[in-house]
Amino acid sequence: MKVDFHVHLEEGPYSLDWLLKQADSLGPLVEQDEVKGSRKWASMLVQGLSERLQQGPYSRDWLELYRLRAKQAGIQQVCVVEHLYRFLEYRAYYEQHVHIGSDRLGTAQRRWLNQVANESLDSFVVFLQKERLRWEDEGIDLRVGIEMDYFSGGEDTLRHVINQYPWDVCMGAVHFLEGWGYPIQDAQERFSRQELIGLYSRYFDKLEQAIESQLFDVIAHIDGIKSFGARPDETALLPYYQRVARALRRRGMATEINTGYGLSKQLREFSPSYRFLEILFQNEVPITLASSATAPDHVGQQLDEARLQLKRVGYTHFAVFEKRKRSMLALD
Ligand SMILES: [Zn+2]
Repeated sequence: MKVDFHVHLEEGPYSLDWLLKQADSLGPLVEQDEVKGSRKWASMLVQGLSERLQQGPYSRDWLELYRLRAKQAGIQQVCVVEHLYRFLEYRAYYEQHVHIGSDRLGTAQRRWLNQVANESLDSFVVFLQKERLRWEDEGIDLRVGIEMDYFSGGEDTLRHVINQYPWDVCMGAVHFLEGWGYPIQDAQERFSRQELIGLYSRYFDKLEQAIESQLFDVIAHIDGIKSFGARPDETALLPYYQRVARALRRRGMATEINTGYGLSKQLREFSPSYRFLEILFQNEVPITLASSATAPDHVGQQLDEARLQLKRVGYTHFAVFEKRKRSMLALD
């Protein structure tokens, strides 16, 4: 069975790149009626984009594009997870743990938070719960999860998020180190200035704390730190990989093979790297399949290649979750 267990319905900031990405997803629909490149085509595309923005990401029209893409790719389970930082209800949590001071980079991070945090968690969950039945009628399971940032001292808030809704999966991630976010473009220069082994060791320490908190079902993009663009010689990281894999095993937690992390950047590989994946297999850590798509036409991207990698290191099964209960499906 094919699944994609990590899909986002929207991800800011709302840049020109963002608009182009949305246009790529809406384009094929417009091209059913109008020839690409014609003035009418451009006008219809702009109209589509305008409707998309007005309706927001939690609308049936937008979700329908995800369903159509999943159907086309033969995917039978799709789990939508959104980043917790997008929701206004938890704005204070991020303000507390992310550096948003008045210095140049702090200001950039504050701007980023203002740009990405604009939805209500409640409306996200209510909308998707309603849509589940319709997907079921079409033969695709729609699951709903949340991807939360782990910060030391933030456990009570996360516990509240976890207990508040009937999640299918609760994912933990470390996107921030000492208040700085490596996925935030403006903050990346801070990471490039640091000594790499020290930086990676602090990242893996934080990840281990996240695992030990026992809050999560899955740890997202486990070597995600590499996405800012640099990694030390990987041999030096193997002891850290071992430690993290053993912690996952001890706590019975899964991680994912994420095809959307790293590929478009300098390191052209999935997360985790192949060597990390081998160590996870040796430690019998269950793995979910994740595209981390942020637009409909990326659903399922390169997951066939991810399945091959899993098989190559020795996996015969992968993990899926429903109401936070894990089951294993055969990698056929
Ligand atoms: Zn993430």
